[in-house]
Amino acid sequence: MPHLETRLAQAGGVPDPETGALIPPIHLSTTYERGADGVYPRGFVYSRLANPTRLRFETTLAALEGGAACAAFASGMAAATAVLQALRPGDHLLLPDDVYYGMRRLVETVFAEWGLAWSEVDMTDPDAVAAALRPETRLVWTETPSNPMLKITDLRAVAERAHAAGARLLVDGTWMTPFLQRPFEHEADLVLHSVTKYLGGHSDVLGGAVVFRAEDAFSERVRALQTSAGAVMDPFSAWLALRGMRTLAARLRMQCDTARRLAAFLQTHPAVARVHHPSLPEHPGHAVARRQMDDDGAMLSIEVRGGLDEALGVAARVKVFTRATSLGGVESLIEHRASIEAPPSRTPASLLRLSIGLEHPDDLLADLSQALGG
Ligand SMILES: *Cc1c(COP(=O)(O)O)cnc(C)c1O
Repeated sequence: MPHLETRLAQAGGVPDPETGALIPPIHLSTTYERGADGVYPRGFVYSRLANPTRLRFETTLAALEGGAACAAFASGMAAATAVLQALRPGDHLLLPDDVYYGMRRLVETVFAEWGLAWSEVDMTDPDAVAAALRPETRLVWTETPSNPMLKITDLRAVAERAHAAGARLLVDGTWMTPFLQRPFEHEADLVLHSVTKYLGGHSDVLGGAVVFRAEDAFSERVRALQTSAGAVMDPFSAWLALRGMRTLAARLRMQCDTARRLAAFLQTHPAVARVHHPSLPEHPGHAVARRQMDDDGAMLSIEVRGGLDEALGVAARVKVFTRATSLGGVESLIEHRASIEAPPSRTPASLLRLSIGLEHPDDLLADLSQALGG
């Protein structure tokens, strides 16, 4: 099979058989002609059920992950919702103790009332995961590196524990994309993506996806929720996501190189108490990261010496970084997470999260240096 770079560069790009256009068309039609015999000759009936542009995105992402199928949604959280709705009331969900804040809110505000049981555990400790599994645990949810503490989970070790207890393992692959980490190679069962981030890559498309390692009763339930509940990815978003994926390898390679350089610089800066990035040998997940990731990723967080005021001061002084939430775009972003997350947030008040973009590394380094006061 060709290298990932080759497959990404040509993602979804078979020339259009009708016109020879290299770039696939965007199919906006919501409905499709039925033959005189009553059948739908090309399989498309109505766009909520299947749309050619969405299908092109789904099959492309499934192949890149090495999965059997994919379902694309209107956002990452719509994808997460469909996965949780495919569980049954009374089932137990195991979450990481530093799960993406939006995910914890979804579980607390929607699914607790719906009857889903859930608990949290430190996913970096496979024995703690084993101890937290219950007879009714059906799904173990992981994010590695985690958001915003960059904790690293040993996917194979957690998959073994989950499977032994009869639970599936889902990996939120948003921060890594299949270019940097392919969870199915480490025995995971499902991969979730916020397409909004690196796959789209330009901060201009909202989307989500679930990729299934195998087609089974659970994937059927998620797909039924996708098409019946209808939180589907629209054709233009699917087209933008495919367009973004064609430059994913080049973007991530440069972004990872810059992030590594910034992490090393910040690590020695007197105004910085801690740097969280798996490239650093001091990072507790460094060895696992080197084993299961192809590169260290372009997200990092720092704890500024002092506390809330010092962290907000650094964020206020940046000129090349932009203060904004989200991540994975071509522009570098800085965010004070604790103040964007509402009170149950466990993020340290001194923490700033950085999403590294495509600016020149010297400019980003100089910007952080002046903002930190160095
Ligand atoms: C942004 C994000 C999500 C949610 O995705 P949306 O597209 O914003 O709904 C889920 N997981 C992670 C790790 C994210 O960064």
